[in-house]
Amino acid sequence: TVRVRLAPSPTGNLHIGTARTAVFNWLFARHQGGQFILRIEDTDIERSRPEYTQNILEGLTWLGMTWDEGPFYQTQRMDLYRQAIQSLLDKGLAYRSYETPEELDAMREAQKARSEAPRYDNRHRNLTPEQEAAFVAEGRQPVIRFKIEDDREISWNDLVRGKVTWKGRDLGGDMVIARAAAADEVGPPLYNFVVVVDDIDMQISHVIRGEDHIGNTPKQILLYEALGATAPEFGHTPLILNSSGAKLSKRDGVTSISDFKQMGYVPEALANYMTLLGWSAPDATQELFTLPEAAQLFSFDRVNKAGAKFDWDKLNWINSQYLHAMPVDRLTDLLIPFWQAAGYEFDPTGDRAWLEELTTLLAASLVLLKDAVEMSQLFFNPIAFTDEAKTQLQQAGSAATLQAVAAALPSDHSLTAEQAQDIIKQVVKEQNVKKGLVMRSLRAGLTGDLQGPDLLQSWLLLHQKGQDLPRLQQALT
Ligand code: GLU
Repeated sequence: TVRVRLAPSPTGNLHIGTARTAVFNWLFARHQGGQFILRIEDTDIERSRPEYTQNILEGLTWLGMTWDEGPFYQTQRMDLYRQAIQSLLDKGLAYRSYETPEELDAMREAQKARSEAPRYDNRHRNLTPEQEAAFVAEGRQPVIRFKIEDDREISWNDLVRGKVTWKGRDLGGDMVIARAAAADEVGPPLYNFVVVVDDIDMQISHVIRGEDHIGNTPKQILLYEALGATAPEFGHTPLILNSSGAKLSKRDGVTSISDFKQMGYVPEALANYMTLLGWSAPDATQELFTLPEAAQLFSFDRVNKAGAKFDWDKLNWINSQYLHAMPVDRLTDLLIPFWQAAGYEFDPTGDRAWLEELTTLLAASLVLLKDAVEMSQLFFNPIAFTDEAKTQLQQAGSAATLQAVAAALPSDHSLTAEQAQDIIKQVVKEQNVKKGLVMRSLRAGLTGDLQGPDLLQSWLLLHQKGQDLPRLQQALT
């Protein structure tokens, strides 16, 4: 059976690249009827933070990335890693290595002077017991290294990239798998090692991760072999690039999922867009789908090798499609926190019907949820007249028109679209003016601007709040 995992390190908020990896793992698992496992790689104690773990879990849940097992935490599994390291030591596949930082620096300097790539030269691979004892007597603390033979050739059939081959000599020499500790202890195990122990223990069948990990894969394949396990399948997904073709980074603005949420992207739109970051449906013109729909269509032969450009226009278009199609009830729920954050005053329960009408008025023009803040400010803030609105209110006939409208307003808070239209018709007749003048004056008087959302609907909303009469009176002074 297919078992995949997402293995984020909680050293930052959920990043768009990690989220996209989550999406591809999830799509593949769902397509295959397999399991999606979540593992928090928190062995880097210095940089890991519980609030990042929280952010990652919340972001995945928000996107709809449900997991079947976990979250597992590597810091709770240290015994397992230490046992595995001990087994490699026992089999002679790993050894203790006593170099000081100064010795390693000198080694690298010498390599640089010879124009060689930096690598560990395996100098402590075959220490005699006497040499080891001498280092220990000096107080040196060894790391543990895993042996990598120069003449090994490692290859795998990558789900995305096809056959990939590495030579042992390009892997940087015997690799450190545990940090320094006393010579009779096993120090804290390192990333490349614990990943393998966990992926074996969790019976992961397919490791799907970003291309930035491709250089770890040959080392990990050697570790599977050393630990007596069969390596899983590997698939390395393309990097996400900015508009200039460089790897998307913090400098390109938002990169964490919580930032996208704050900007007013909805989860199903962002998840939909992420499926397109390096993958396309068999009918490549199809760009809108739910995650379950994408899962049905997903396969690795449609994942690109080339980097995926992050296309804000496309993301915005997809978001607007979801907003326009969303039931008003849900859209209102999503807009309320944005209005609240803007400091607008309303009663989320008592004003619910009014808020839903406001939502209906704005829905078709929204690209991001936060657009609603600016577009609806006229309903929450005291009226402020633009220069154009002031000029309009000075036009001949404008004041008389607004006076006539004010006089015709029903005194209670009910005003229907028909009544409003009747009032306009009546005023056109009585005052003998063009309908255009009435409409422009009304817009200026009610909203303080000459453009904005549908006038009639805006008027009805203002009337329900008892705002239309005072505003017309203000416009007339
Ligand atoms: N902890 C690694 C990361 O966050 C996971 C890499 C992997 O999937 O093996 O990038």
